[in-house]
Amino acid sequence: MNFAKDVELIASPPKSGLVDVLVPRCLIGNGEDVLGTAINQEGLSSIQIEWRDGTITSIKGLKETSKAPEEIILPRFAEPHAHIDKAFSWSRSFNLKGTYQEALAANLREYELRSKDELILSVEKSLNLALVNGVRAIRSHIDSFGKTAMRDWDILEDVRKKWQEKIFLQFVALVPLDFWQTDEGGLLAQRVASNGDLLGGVIAPPFNKRKTFKSLLHLVQLANRLNCDIDIHIDESQSCSAGGLKLLLEVLAQVENEISITCSHLSSMGLLKEKAISHLAKKMAKNKLKVVALPLTNAWLLGRKDRFSLIKRPLAPIFQLQKAGVVVSVGGDNVNDAWFPLSNFDPLNLMAFSMPIAHLSPWDRLGLSPFTSSAAQVLSLQWDGLFQKGSPADFILLDSNSWVKALSNRPKRRVVVNGEFLNELPKKN
Ligand SMILES: [Zn+2]
Repeated sequence: MNFAKDVELIASPPKSGLVDVLVPRCLIGNGEDVLGTAINQEGLSSIQIEWRDGTITSIKGLKETSKAPEEIILPRFAEPHAHIDKAFSWSRSFNLKGTYQEALAANLREYELRSKDELILSVEKSLNLALVNGVRAIRSHIDSFGKTAMRDWDILEDVRKKWQEKIFLQFVALVPLDFWQTDEGGLLAQRVASNGDLLGGVIAPPFNKRKTFKSLLHLVQLANRLNCDIDIHIDESQSCSAGGLKLLLEVLAQVENEISITCSHLSSMGLLKEKAISHLAKKMAKNKLKVVALPLTNAWLLGRKDRFSLIKRPLAPIFQLQKAGVVVSVGGDNVNDAWFPLSNFDPLNLMAFSMPIAHLSPWDRLGLSPFTSSAAQVLSLQWDGLFQKGSPADFILLDSNSWVKALSNRPKRRVVVNGEFLNELPKKN
């Protein structure tokens, strides 16, 4: 019998651990745990976190005389807007001009021919990357209007089961808005609702106001009948500012709405005058609409004009929406496909690239929340991503002692899933 080994096993029960780390103070759920602990200029505090059986059992501030921690702790992330069904399809469906129209055309061609194996490859590659990068949940839109829609949803159901211990998956059926009025649409909606997934769609100019109003009204009524949430691509454009949003608000003024509606993109709203933005934002808050801003794809696709560099770029007015009380998260959107050639399901990469575009700062509570707690709220996750006793030991540890370094140098990371280290890679000194 190896006595030393047995002692070691007794000394460290499964799914448990203890780390000294730097934590963004705004991610501490209960201020009493860290009362009196110093906060540095980047909003980080030195704390000790202990966990057992996958649950955080203790959080306490470190004394100023103790050794400064060398890792930053962040909750595992929720990705509020992805397209895992077409990620990594760039090589067979590229879009060298980088326009919205060319992206749409390439996407439609690729979707027609997308094989079962290609779908599985995209999905599995996305999930494997997301897992090692520290993602715990993904809401992904799924192209769902073709001959293969039901086949694809069968495949995705299997994938969801296979991955359920590691990444929570939520799907949105992405179809043209009027598809929900067809028989096929009705059948798909029932399936989507019974799985707890969401109905989706696209409203982007040019659109016929009357027809779009009717389709939206039908969608909201259908979703309420089925008790199923909605997430739509809306106003991803540089023209007809907030045209889709205005129609949606008109629809909501006419119906009793009990379900949650997420507006993805909402880019052209940012082009309105301040007064109009504030007026619409207040109405959105009243209707409990949620927003997913998507700075990377907006910056890449929208407002392109041949050889002219446009300085004014469409993007959801994140600060004004937050000020009105609207939940706003930031998502990654497309990865290596016709809509966006770059990116890699890395939330740190998303932060590093979208923060300068959106003027979000990691040391501000409202600059960080779109990537953490607000994203969890958009997905209606059980855990809001704040650290406190009793919350899950589900986090990443970045080998870095400052935000600036963490977002500049792609630091090594250790990922803890349900109390267990995903990989025990040797740590850099
Ligand atoms: Zn999208």
